[in-house]
Amino acid sequence: MYNLSKTLFERAQRVIPGGVNSPVRAFKGVGGTPIFMKSAKGAYLYDVDGNTYIDYINSWGPMILGHAYEPVVKKIQEYATYSTSFGAPTELETKIAELIVHMVPNIDQVRMVNSGTEACMSALRVARGFTGRNKFIKFEGNYHGHADAFLVSAGSGVATLDIQSVPGVTQSVAADTLTAPYNNLPAVEKLVAEFPDQIAAIIVEPVAGNMGCILPQPGFLEGLRAVCDANNILLIFDEVMTGFRLARGGAQELFNIKADLVTFGKIIGAGMPVGAFAGRREIMQHVAPVGKIYQAGTLSGNPIAMIAGYTLLQTLDENPDIYRQLAEKGAYLSGGIQSALSAAGIVHQVNNLGSMLSVHFAEYPIINFDAASGANNELFKNFFHAMLERGIYLPPSAFESWFISNALTIEDMDKTIATVKEVIAVIK
Ligand code: PMP
Repeated sequence: MYNLSKTLFERAQRVIPGGVNSPVRAFKGVGGTPIFMKSAKGAYLYDVDGNTYIDYINSWGPMILGHAYEPVVKKIQEYATYSTSFGAPTELETKIAELIVHMVPNIDQVRMVNSGTEACMSALRVARGFTGRNKFIKFEGNYHGHADAFLVSAGSGVATLDIQSVPGVTQSVAADTLTAPYNNLPAVEKLVAEFPDQIAAIIVEPVAGNMGCILPQPGFLEGLRAVCDANNILLIFDEVMTGFRLARGGAQELFNIKADLVTFGKIIGAGMPVGAFAGRREIMQHVAPVGKIYQAGTLSGNPIAMIAGYTLLQTLDENPDIYRQLAEKGAYLSGGIQSALSAAGIVHQVNNLGSMLSVHFAEYPIINFDAASGANNELFKNFFHAMLERGIYLPPSAFESWFISNALTIEDMDKTIATVKEVIAVIK
């Protein structure tokens, strides 16, 4: 079934560490051989061995309208003929910045980078440069990319591989990273009291997607805003996953909470390597070349990436009903999975908001990293493989969110729910 994938994985491991260019892809969290992909269209993935899957990763978020979305593909083809990079400004960069400023509340300016990592790393530098403070607070199990400062109690692959402290991240860097449990406002208030006038920023995934999908409890994000206001701390929303996914204007719009800086990735590039950070003019004016907070990139604002992102964002902007449709699909799928697991007597929690969801095998609510870690993640492994063998491609780790694309049909979801019912007998 996976013969060619196995051969390719063996070959890859000789020349690529672990055979992959990003750790979670290696299936370390669930065991087995990663599946090598050949192509994808809409809601389906096609692997090198000829197997077809319904995709619940969607490139970890970018493919919100499904794979190989035709208007994006056509524009990429057209723009590739003009040159793949100029290293000089283009009108397109202004057009996408204008569109983002129009779609996202509370931002005046946006700087394009090449990944979510760069976006978060740069936003933190801006927060530090703007406030003149060094420390910042992040939450256990949140992931903000692999810049040194963020690799403390990080989610995603760091959690999947259970790396307690990352070699190469110096103690002096890690000392400025303060951590608190997600959804725990008193813990944040305690840190703020402990380090007066030293904390530049609080960075948070407004809906966490790197320890499964975990929703903010009522009052949590509002509380962070209030703590920041009272202590001149900048609030950074890491919207790499939630941006343009949970709403046209991301979590800021959905929860009606203003962040001081916002980071983006994934959807903003429609699958091309793009990220961005954005904020009010008074803050962004400190970024070079206007201000002294240096930040740069040879390929930043790359024309192929920009036209791909611009085309996708324009579609989302012009068709806000997509968000209602995605939320309906998310609720339908979550409800179906919940009923199937309940009927079989399997303890579980399905967390869902809009087009993000995750399944945890636990009897208590999953509201933070400790809760996600304490779930029956052995059972998740069996669940994952049983689903995969039947053509349902889930994230290969209990510490990752599932992402739905709008290409997904009711029939696809019914098939998925029926498959859950079928695999229960195998995994019990
Ligand atoms: N922030 C969040 C919330 C993410 O989920 C990710 C990646 N999954 C990142 C930052 C880093 O983005 P990238 O992998 O593009 O560097």
